[in-house]
Amino acid sequence: MMVPVHREAPFPVLLAWACLDRHHHKRCSRCAEADLCPAVGEARARIKEWRKARALLGWTR
Ligand SMILES: [Zn+2]
Repeated sequence: MMVPVHREAPFPVLLAWACLDRHHHKRCSRCAEADLCPAVGEARARIKEWRKARALLGWTR
């Protein structure tokens, strides 16, 4: 998954992207048990917060 917008994202957000990417391509044991594993849920929440923060700052890219 290539997402061009995360270039300027802080490290925790980059980690969240990496996590999503990893769990998307190779599901972990928790992915197999649940539809949405905790790691993926956390990563998504983090990215969502980052997007919200960007919107507040008025960043368009
Ligand atoms: Zn997982």
